[in-house]
Amino acid sequence: MKPRVRFVYAPQLAAWRLGEDHPFKPERLDALKDLLERTGLLPDELVRAPDALPAGSLEAVHDPGYVEVVRAASHGKRLEEAYRHGLGTSDTPLSPGLHDAVTSVCAATWTAMNVVLSGEATRAAAFSGGLHHAMRDRASGFCVYNDLNVAIAHARSKGARVAYLDVDAHHGDGVQDAFYADADVLTVSLHESGRYLFPGTGYGSELGREAGRGWSVNVPLEPFTDDASFLEAFDLVVPAALEAFAPDVIVLQAGADAHALDPLADLQLSLQGMRAVYERVVGLADALCEGRLVVTGGGGYAAFHVPPRAWAHAWSAMTGAPLPERLPEAWRQRWRDVAGHDLPEFALDAPQDTLPESRRVAMTSHNRAVARRVLDVASPLWARRVGEEST
Ligand SMILES: [Zn+2]
Repeated sequence: MKPRVRFVYAPQLAAWRLGEDHPFKPERLDALKDLLERTGLLPDELVRAPDALPAGSLEAVHDPGYVEVVRAASHGKRLEEAYRHGLGTSDTPLSPGLHDAVTSVCAATWTAMNVVLSGEATRAAAFSGGLHHAMRDRASGFCVYNDLNVAIAHARSKGARVAYLDVDAHHGDGVQDAFYADADVLTVSLHESGRYLFPGTGYGSELGREAGRGWSVNVPLEPFTDDASFLEAFDLVVPAALEAFAPDVIVLQAGADAHALDPLADLQLSLQGMRAVYERVVGLADALCEGRLVVTGGGGYAAFHVPPRAWAHAWSAMTGAPLPERLPEAWRQRWRDVAGHDLPEFALDAPQDTLPESRRVAMTSHNRAVARRVLDVASPLWARRVGEEST
């Protein structure tokens, strides 16, 4: 039987702006949708409009005073207070309608989660979402409200145990922080080490606290990490963590900035490697929680070159429908005009070896040691937690 899947979409999710020259470009969502439609992967019946966000959903994960400040600042008021909450900076500028725009991003991710929890579908994607840096009372790293936390809090309110997996190049700090002491939310983040990259956190020693100890897992990777090393670290840590935790639903933040062409991070993944990650996550959902999976976007600043193709692969893995090797010419033409540069011909990358062999060997062995160390420290905590629950 084919999996039941939903693509949560509304035009306004692609129509907002953080600023004219800002690297975060929500219109990449329309480039993705157009690509999926032109390749036959997105028949109309799989597209689902977001529900309105239920009252109180933002305040469940954000300080109500912060929400009020964002709302006011979106109308040009209380700007100094907003600045103290991280808004109005070059990273996270204020724009008219910001509160409404980011609330609709939260509504889309909430809807994807609700579709899966209610059984309307087994898998759902909200590629507009993935704003993983937003904190309880602070905007950070292009993120104002944390749609992932909104969706995870909704699942928790229904009694579901949630495994959150973050493969964005940056540490998923806002999600880790929100559920750091929660024994019913596992967060796993693989990212470029905070020694080199924003937000400067996500070390192996960040393991959760109190009841949540052991259920925050971080694998900080070296710059220039390639497909093989990323997948090795993934395979060492992620299946073991998810199996020990036994989730009811998996959330994948599929930030596309781990790709070699991304201008804001230094990992060297190709679309082949990213596709392999998506396929592994779908397999883990099938094996551990009857397929229940919510997928969001996230970073991805080679905006028209990488995210539409990366998330088309994620969608293809979720639906089981193959993506054609060669991208439709009409798609390339339409989005070349928007992007201002030529777009790739193929769905996957040409193989390339950019790293000198000695550097590649050093990177690989460093990442392997990090992943093994994380597993050594965390797995005894998992065994103890699972033991406590069964007695
Ligand atoms: Zn990122």
